[in-house]
Amino acid sequence: FVIPEFQEFAGVIDSMYHKCLTNTEGKVADYIPQLSRFDPGLWGVSVCTIDGQRVSYGDTDMNFCLQSCSKPLMYALALNELGSDIVHQYVGQEPSGRPFNEISLNSNDKPHNPLINSGAVVITSLLKNNLSLPDRFDYVQTQFKRIAGGEFLGFSNATFLSERQTADRNFSLGYYMKEKKVFPASTNLMETLDFYFQLCSIEANCESASVMAATLANGGICPITGDKILNPQSVRNTLSLMHSCGMYDYSGQFAFKVGLPGKSGVSGAILLVVPNVMGICVWSPPLDATGNSCRGIQFCDELVQQFNFHNYDNL
Ligand code: GLU
Repeated sequence: FVIPEFQEFAGVIDSMYHKCLTNTEGKVADYIPQLSRFDPGLWGVSVCTIDGQRVSYGDTDMNFCLQSCSKPLMYALALNELGSDIVHQYVGQEPSGRPFNEISLNSNDKPHNPLINSGAVVITSLLKNNLSLPDRFDYVQTQFKRIAGGEFLGFSNATFLSERQTADRNFSLGYYMKEKKVFPASTNLMETLDFYFQLCSIEANCESASVMAATLANGGICPITGDKILNPQSVRNTLSLMHSCGMYDYSGQFAFKVGLPGKSGVSGAILLVVPNVMGICVWSPPLDATGNSCRGIQFCDELVQQFNFHNYDNL
């Protein structure tokens, strides 16, 4: 086993879970009712190692939307399907240093990276774009489900409808990028944005999302099923950008303090990857000023204080 003393390890995770439970900071996202209705007390931690050892504490079987946690998965699928050269004709690899939904492109008129809205919308336009929208949605849902080892994945139609209704910024971003010819020529912008909102509205829970993170930790092979979904090169690229760009405008500090690839979403979820060791999903709705889950960030800090998981530990 990659973690031989798993009971002992789980005990430490349990005490970290309880420590973070007392954290009452932050504010639940309220730009759509489907998010604002979440109880700020909800808090779950799930761990899945690359050899399938599991442990969960708290609200780990409650469903939430992936929101921006879908972005690294979309990027990984695009890389896996098209290769890095083609994907990066459309999107950069640099942290933007700007808010995740800002209307801005890099000096080559491309989105800065695939983990902010502009880049993720462009990635969405690339995913199986020779198929019809229903088939493209089926494809992504099937792949996400494989990445999650067949465990829970849902779809919140109410979230999708709310996202679309309140998406003036994303529509503006889309039109701006269309003007700048960021998309492949055949792109239907309205369909692409619908698809993007739908992918944000795919639901998971901590347990299934920890398997997703573990599939990334394991180089693209799901540790529960042995299913090989992503090639290691695609996963390497995905983890590199999660490391530098995954945590909104806290990405640099997160890389410094935690030193692990992660991706957070406005639902309060964080996918955290300890490469070659485990995937973790932490979820708690109250967010800090940068948009990251308060309990989630505290947990990540605690994790690297307790264990030498930081990329530059063991020097
Ligand atoms: N649905 C959100 C948007 O596109 C994603 C928010 C997030 O999780 O960052 O604005």
